[in-house]
Amino acid sequence: MGKLVIVGTVAFDAIETPFGKTDKILGGAGTFIGLAASNFNIDSAVVSVVGGDFPQEYLSLMSNKNIDVSGVEIIEDGKTFFWSGRYHNDMNSRDTLVTELNVLENFEPKVPENYRDAEVVMLGNLHPSTQMSVLNQMTEKPKLVILDTMNFWMDCALDELHNTIKHVDVITINDEEARQLTGEYSLVVAARKIHDMGPEYVVIKKGEHGALLFHDDNAFYAPALPLEEVFDPTGAGDTFAGGFAGYLAKTKDYSFDNMKKAVIYGSTLASFCVEKFGTQRIENLSTTEIYKRLDQFKSLTQFEIELN
Ligand code: AMP
Repeated sequence: MGKLVIVGTVAFDAIETPFGKTDKILGGAGTFIGLAASNFNIDSAVVSVVGGDFPQEYLSLMSNKNIDVSGVEIIEDGKTFFWSGRYHNDMNSRDTLVTELNVLENFEPKVPENYRDAEVVMLGNLHPSTQMSVLNQMTEKPKLVILDTMNFWMDCALDELHNTIKHVDVITINDEEARQLTGEYSLVVAARKIHDMGPEYVVIKKGEHGALLFHDDNAFYAPALPLEEVFDPTGAGDTFAGGFAGYLAKTKDYSFDNMKKAVIYGSTLASFCVEKFGTQRIENLSTTEIYKRLDQFKSLTQFEIELN
């Protein structure tokens, strides 16, 4: 069975969208990635840290889905990472209102012993030095290292980010962040520049406009599924990354062609995520639901054309 180790925030989020507002609910990049990857029947572990204020039921929610949470450290007298954001009317852009690192400030991740030989490592959005520390703990060189990051870390830890990026095979990043990281408007040029920083594969997420996968001179594009209801995009990027990583850990085929399928799985899972607040929609997805949506994806994007 494929083994996937995930590092990322396990957090409280408070979200405002044009459709409503939440108090502190379960969130965090590690949480969304873990839940998405749990659909692939693989061994997965989330490495993270929470405070004494974090409800046990949230950890149980993950372990009930076979996610190993023994690498989620609990600092009893600390407070859990908290993030709050407000979406604009287009639901594609948002403002971060609050980022309280709390226990994340001094976080030293510890990869569980039995996951130090995992084939796939998913470095979720976190301080790049923390991401690097996870890589350094692997006893065997992983077959695939995927990194996700965001503008926050570009603003406050750019040198460390450049250092970590050198060691990864795939980067998943959104369009705005790709432009910030490279100073280039064209995503094709930005992808090439990121490629030169280290990653062989570059995935650029474009929210409701889908995702692009670049490798050398090859590019692949998957649209986002047009949905009737987009309720809360929080975690869609992480859910995409979790679906992408989970599929590759399951199939153990890290070729460009298989990554195209991983992009489709990532987009499919992300399409569920946005339908409800936080993790609500992806907490209990059935295989039938996922396959139905994959089928919708197929009919949305397949066509026959005669070239003569
Ligand atoms: P996404 O919508 O995929 O970009 O991810 C949203 C998730 O990222 C939320 O659940 C937040 O808890 C988490 N998050 C927000 N800011 C940060 C940050 N600076 N570092 C790590 N995770 C973050």
